[in-house]
Amino acid sequence: MRTPTDSPTTLIWLRRDLRLADNPALALALAHGERPLVLYIHAPEEEAPWAPGAASRWWLHQSLASLEQRLRALGGQLILAAGDSLAMLRATAKATNATAVYWNRLYDPALVARDSRIKQALRGGGLRCESLKAQVLFEPWELATGAGQPYRVFSAFWRKAAPRLDGAPPQPSPIALPAPPPGIPSLPLAALGLLPRHPWAAGLGQAWHPGEPGAQALLDAFLGNAEHYGEQRDLPAVSGTSRLAPHLHFGEISPRQVIAALAAEAPGGLTGAAEPFVRELGWREFAHHLLYHYPYTPQEPLDPRFAAFPWRTDGAEALLAAWQAGRTGIPLVDAGMRELWQTGWMHNRVRMVVAALLTKQMRLPWQAGARWFWDTLVDADLAANTLGWQWSAGCGADAAPYFRIFNPVRQGERFDPQGDYVRRWCPELAALPAPWIHSPWAAPDATLHRAGLRLGRDYPAPVVDLVQGRAEALAAWEQLKGGSPVQATRPAFD
Ligand SMILES: Cc1cc2nc3c(=O)[nH]c(=O)nc-3n(C[C@H](O)[C@H](O)[C@H](O)COP(=O)(O)OP(=O)(O)OC[C@H]3O[C@@H](n4cnc5c(N)ncnc54)[C@H](O)[C@@H]3O)c2cc1C
Repeated sequence: MRTPTDSPTTLIWLRRDLRLADNPALALALAHGERPLVLYIHAPEEEAPWAPGAASRWWLHQSLASLEQRLRALGGQLILAAGDSLAMLRATAKATNATAVYWNRLYDPALVARDSRIKQALRGGGLRCESLKAQVLFEPWELATGAGQPYRVFSAFWRKAAPRLDGAPPQPSPIALPAPPPGIPSLPLAALGLLPRHPWAAGLGQAWHPGEPGAQALLDAFLGNAEHYGEQRDLPAVSGTSRLAPHLHFGEISPRQVIAALAAEAPGGLTGAAEPFVRELGWREFAHHLLYHYPYTPQEPLDPRFAAFPWRTDGAEALLAAWQAGRTGIPLVDAGMRELWQTGWMHNRVRMVVAALLTKQMRLPWQAGARWFWDTLVDADLAANTLGWQWSAGCGADAAPYFRIFNPVRQGERFDPQGDYVRRWCPELAALPAPWIHSPWAAPDATLHRAGLRLGRDYPAPVVDLVQGRAEALAAWEQLKGGSPVQATRPAFD
């Protein structure tokens, strides 16, 4: 596709919509016959205090590399910049003779504020600006209770949302893009400094293929198994979930594309065997709804009583370190934390178990767990992570009540009955027979001996007593519920 090099352009400001198919901002420019130029600005400080963590930065590097390649193949270019977003947009608009800037909306509180400030400023400077819906199926303001309030209960939210899903076909990727004007200033990808120096990233590279083609391949693979999702989704030893979360977070695939593919290809469409999966996408929507309407929740509990929760203070640092390192002595928890460290992902059932141990038996603040996930998950997402942690800690919307305390041994016996998941991530326990795999401390000495295992040497003894930890957590809850004047005692881990 050829256009005169000095004809006006439209900047497509990509952020977490790193795809060419079903990209409303790009599609709008093409539909208007405009000349789109794709720009990515690296400005992590504008996301503070939730600038992308180390695993997210690794992903972002790979995803931008993939996008750069795809754009070049279509005749376009990815313009890379770093620094103040408004200044970069203005400078690039000037250098490229742009008359308009389009982008797809994000809902993290810091970005909502930044984007509306930028829209005003650009419009004030005479540029046309449009922001569009792409990251979610429903804008947070599209759905409200009968009283016009935001939802706080998932089932009611989903009753309203699910019938509105239409499975309409998404926009395909353009097959060619107009050539960019020559000499546009752009940084090399390496200059963004996204890659960690830590050798840990090698494990991420083995586990994932960031970018639009990788996302599409995972979706295609999942469609063949979607009807079994309901039976398999809680079994961490089985690959029964889609693993689409990081691709959805970075917008390499849109929720609309996923819904449309399920509507067309899953047996029974959206309400058939794939319904439990569609519902999980509903939780993703609910998470965005909550974050938009309660923007303080990444830091503060939605249930204000929990601001005064008597978290543990003695030995808190050591317990947190054991949890982070996957050395708590509780096998299902350690397996999950090691899976996280090695692959940047953890199975959802195990996320719930590790979060429950941290916030209940260990009585450490959910914010400390959320921070660790933020840095280590490739799918770290402010909306979903906040919801997941507040749900687990019992202080969020529709949360598990605090007094309902998961027993990680029972959870292991139920969802990893043969211990295959634990054996994969805690190889030092591999020879333990199934009846003891989730509670090695209860195994007879002879069994431990036969398995070549000495607790405290080859594998830690539990760092917290599950029975006593549970009792202490319940006592803390009673104290909070009774409204006795407890001091807020959150240790500063951040
Ligand atoms: C403590 C805790 C922290 C979490 N942090 C995150 C996070 O930072 N980012 C994140 O994407 N998910 C988070 N989750 C939710 C969930 O664990 C992951 O979305 C899921 O494990 C990702 O794997 P998958 O893509 O194979 O999921 P699938 O089971 O295949 O689900 C499909 C998609 O639905 C969405 N989804 C599924 N479950 C949830 C949920 N409970 N809340 C919101 N969206 C959901 C995700 O986009 C996911 O990709 C967290 C859960 C807990 C308990």
